This record gives sequence, structure tokens and C-alpha cells, in this order.
Amino acid sequence: MVTATFRFYEELNDFIARPLRRRAFTCECARNASAKHMIEALGVPHTEVELILVNGESVGFDHPLADGDRVAVYPKFECFDVRSLLRVRDAPLREPRFVADAHLGGLAQLLRLAGFDTLYDNGYPDDEIEAIALNEGRIVLSRDRELLKRRGITHGCYVRALRPHAQLRELFDRLDLAASVRPFRLCLMCNAPLRPLAREAARARVPEGVFDRHSRFVTCDVCRRVFWEGSHWKRMRTVIDALTKTAAPHSPQPEAANKCVQCAPPTDLESPHGHEEDRP
Ligand SMILES: [Zn+2]
Repeated sequence: MVTATFRFYEELNDFIARPLRRRAFTCECARNASAKHMIEALGVPHTEVELILVNGESVGFDHPLADGDRVAVYPKFECFDVRSLLRVRDAPLREPRFVADAHLGGLAQLLRLAGFDTLYDNGYPDDEIEAIALNEGRIVLSRDRELLKRRGITHGCYVRALRPHAQLRELFDRLDLAASVRPFRLCLMCNAPLRPLAREAARARVPEGVFDRHSRFVTCDVCRRVFWEGSHWKRMRTVIDALTKTAAPHSPQPEAANKCVQCAPPTDLESPHGHEEDRP
């Protein structure tokens, strides 16, 4: 029997049994158990792990554990650049694209609003989420740690916050999204690109009062909704602006991030069918 000593750091402690948190503890491992196998058996999805040190050396998930090993497990570091140490996965996904599980519909809409390609369907079974993540190189967003433990999911985020705006902020912090924001380019409902719509073409497709008050319209070619810069748009704009400004000092290209927001194309979020309450 192999016995190893484990110590989990920072927020990874949330996933393990209370008596084991924030201290070293010894644990019997199955023969030939890998580091990943034991970390997940103790409750931590591999997607949440950024660095594993065994006896002080950085190892990959498949590293076999030996009797007497001391295993230290770390989440993403906020303050230290540890890229040269990383062994647990090949590389970050180049362009952040997501697939959200059934409980994160609100977050999916906010991500689309910020311009991040996010697939969501409240009917996706876990197998399909895993297949989509694998085939399309998407980051899985979930509050289900068993889903994140699946072998085919290499990049995922356990979302801690319960409300969509707090969830969005959490992801911005964890994945440094501020520099990549491109607001109001995707349809909130379909995740499809929005394109400008000539004002005259919008006339027959929006309420008369809306047509009189607004000059810029965009449309989605999938659901055919028309959007304009209404009050909902302005509220959402405030949310996105706040996130990019807060995150700017930590982002590699803060000026680019801000410029991107300022120069966002004329788009909008208000639509005769676009509100939650209007949906069938
Ligand atoms: Zn659409």
C-alpha cells in the first residue's frame, strides 16, 4: 500500500473534507494511483489545479505516486508567474471560448454580451458538454465538480458565485478576460454575430416609438431579432465598463481593453423579443 502526504492550498480547500483543509494529511492511495486520480478522489476537479509539486518537483497529472511522497496542490496563482513550472496541461486555450452547463444561463448571456463565444443549452447532457469541449476547444463552466472531473475536459472553471453578475466578475478575475472584451457583437440568445441594420430596414421590425427615438440598429441573422441602444443596453454597458476598468491594471493591454469598449460598434440589446419576460 502506498501512503502519501497531501496539502491543498488556497481555494482548493473548499473542495475537500473539512478536517483535511489547510493542513498536511496522510492518505492511503491505490496501487499505481496517479496524482490526478488521488486529487480527484479527495474531491478536487483537475480543472481547478494549476500546479502539483511532488517532493518539491513540478509534475504532471499522470505522475504515479510512490510511498512517502509529499504532494502539494495549488490553484491558479494570482500574484506569481509560475509558467515555467507548469506541467499539468499543455497550454491555456488561445482564445477563450466557453460551454456553460445547464445552471449557468444567466452567465452565458453576460459572456455573450461581453463578446465571448459561449454555447449554452439547458438540455445539454454531461456527455455532450464533454464532447463539445473536446472537439471545439472550449472551456467548461460549471458548478458541478463531477462534470469537471471528466477525462475529456482539459480546461474548465468551477464557478463559485451564485448570481450571474458575480459569476462574470469571478471569471474575469480568474481568466484575465478584460483585455479580450468585445461587447455587443454577439446575439445574447443565439451566440451568433450581430450585424448592422440600416435604419429604414428596421422600420417595419421595431415598435414605432423605438424607431423614432433611435438611429442605430443591429440584427441577428439566426433569430432575426433587432436590437437597439435602449435602457437595457445602457445598464449592460455600465456593467461591462465597470469590469474592464477594475481589471485594467492587471491586464496585459489595459489601453487596448478600454479602447475596445469605447469603439464598440453601434449595437444594442433592446428588442421586442429580447427580454426574458418576453420569451415564450
Ligand atoms: Zn439571435
